Order: sequence, then structure tokens, then C-alpha cells
Amino acid sequence: MIVVMQGSSAVEEVQLVIERMVELGFNVHRTTGVDQVILAGVGSPSHFDVAEFSVLPGVQEAYRISSPYKLAGRSFRPEGTRITFPNGVVVGGEQVTMMAGPCSVESREQILMSAKLAAKAGCQFLRGGAFKPRSSPYSFQGMGLEGLKLLREVTDETGLLVITEVMEISQIELMLPYIDCFQVGARNMQNFNLLRELGHVRKPVLMKRGIAATIEEVLLSAEYILSGGNYDLMLCERGIRTFETYTRNTYDVSAIPVLKKLTHLPVFGDPSHGVGKREFVPPLALASVAAGADGLLLEMHPNPEKAMSDGAQSLYPEQLETLVAQLRLLAPVVGRTVA
Ligand code: PEP
Ligand code: MN
Repeated sequence: MIVVMQGSSAVEEVQLVIERMVELGFNVHRTTGVDQVILAGVGSPSHFDVAEFSVLPGVQEAYRISSPYKLAGRSFRPEGTRITFPNGVVVGGEQVTMMAGPCSVESREQILMSAKLAAKAGCQFLRGGAFKPRSSPYSFQGMGLEGLKLLREVTDETGLLVITEVMEISQIELMLPYIDCFQVGARNMQNFNLLRELGHVRKPVLMKRGIAATIEEVLLSAEYILSGGNYDLMLCERGIRTFETYTRNTYDVSAIPVLKKLTHLPVFGDPSHGVGKREFVPPLALASVAAGADGLLLEMHPNPEKAMSDGAQSLYPEQLETLVAQLRLLAPVVGRTVA
């Protein structure tokens, strides 16, 4: 159930509604928007009358949520979620957020160079995996803790924020001091225990779409994180598995406007993993922003030929710069800006 309070409602009126919801057995999630408080009741009390809430003092309207995702749905925050990072970067606002960097952290030199190049191109985040989910157990698995330390060191030097992948619950504590945003990879989108745990941390999460996940499944996975009380969540389209083999995955641009309609959460696009070949990344990055993406997650490597993972889809530094310049021209068409 969603209860929308009147803009003018008193604190005591909001409190009364919350108490009544709790009494009935609802778990209450509250969001304070620009001009109103919205209360979402999650859970399934055996019987309640939604009309009872409509007539409580201070209530504007109360209705049942028919979709299976209650907190991820647009109605919980009609104006959209904005996430503010420690350095003032806001995700989900007018400015498109740019995240770029190599697939994996490989060495101090490589990640420092990547950070400098990403900052020079106008990005706000440096990406780079320290824990890598590789299809083969014999492939490079990442630098681990050492990689996290390097990410922090080079971003402190360049003023960027760090986004990096968390693969299991035991890594969360270890990562907290070094990162600004957890990335949940496609393979872990339905690792529900991990998602639940990320619902309890107070650090933003970017969750990628699973390799064969429907949009509803993406939103239900988001619900696992939100229901734990962590509302600082971003979603990311990264391509799905289809019968097509020419591209690494099939980058589903349509998921972007669809998600923007269904959820208040910021939506990102990762065309690098979506298409798998660098020459197709810029056009799909442009398409993503045109389709309403709040940000892009891009692989860029100072020397892609030498990359230990995903070199073929990693942009050359100059390609990233050209792309950002094009995005600056395109973004205003859809009411956005690029730094
Ligand atoms: C990555 O971002 O490097 C990665 C492993 O992505 P995905 O989870 O989308 O495959
Ligand atoms: Mn990668």
C-alpha cells in the first residue's frame, strides 16, 4: 500500500498513519520528496481496508500497489531518486554521470593512468574490478585488496569516485573503507543473500541486469536491496543473452526508457559489456543517453591491447574523449548535461 500525505500534513498526522500501518503488520518505508511525504507499506497483512487510510487526517490518497515490486516502483518516489556522493556529485539529476576505467585493476601504473585519463575526459567515477567474476577459473581473478587500495589512492589523487564490483558477502566489510559505490555484477543479480546484505550497508549500489533477467526480475532484485533500507541504488543495462553471436550480448536500449517509467531509481547503460567490441560502444553510449540514461559505465584502458580482461571492448582514451564531446552536444536535446 502507498499512502501519499498532503504537503501540509503535520508531523503528528504522519506519525499516526505510520502507527496504524505498523499495527496492521506493515513494514513502513518512508520517503520525503520535494513537497510530500510518501509512506510505502510492505508486507501482506491478512485484511485491511485501504479506505480507512484515505480518510485519516493529513492523507492525500492511499492505494494498493498491484506490482510485485513495491519500493522500486515509480509511485514510491514519483520525482525520481537522486543520490548525492561525498564530493557533491549527484546521480539522477540533470547531469549525466560518467563512469569509466578498465575492466580490472592490473597495476598501480595502469590504474593511475586510467584515473588521470578518465578525469581528463570529464568523468566523475573511476571503474575497475579488484574482484573479477571470470567465466574461466584459469583467467585473471583480480588483485583483490591490493586493487582496492590502489583504486582509493589514485582517485584521491584525481578527485574521482570509486565504483568496483562486490562478489560475495565477505567482501563487503573489506571494501567499505576504499570505495564509494558497490557494483553488483550481472552474474550476481540474483544472489539474493548478497543483495539482502547490501540492503543493510549505507553506501550506494549499482546493480547490473542479469545475463538473462527480465525487467521484472531486475526490479524484484532491486527490491531486495531497497527493503533492507538502502535506497541509494542505481540500475544498469549491460546486455542480455540472445541468439545473436556477432555481438557479445544484445544491448537492450529499450530497457532504459522502460525502467525509467517503471522505477524511480537512476538507470545506467553499460554498452561495453552490452556489445563487446569497442567500435560499437560510442554509438550505443549516445543511444543510451538519448533513451534517457542517467549515466554510463564504460570500459576504457590506457593500452587496450595489453588489457588482462575485456581489451576488445575497452575504448582507447581518445575515443572516450571524443565520445564525451559528442555526449555534450547530444545531452541538451533530451534536457540533460554532460560535465
Ligand atoms: C564488469 O563490469 O567488468 C563486469 C564483469 O560486468 P558484468 O557483470 O556486466 O558482466
Ligand atoms: Mn569487464
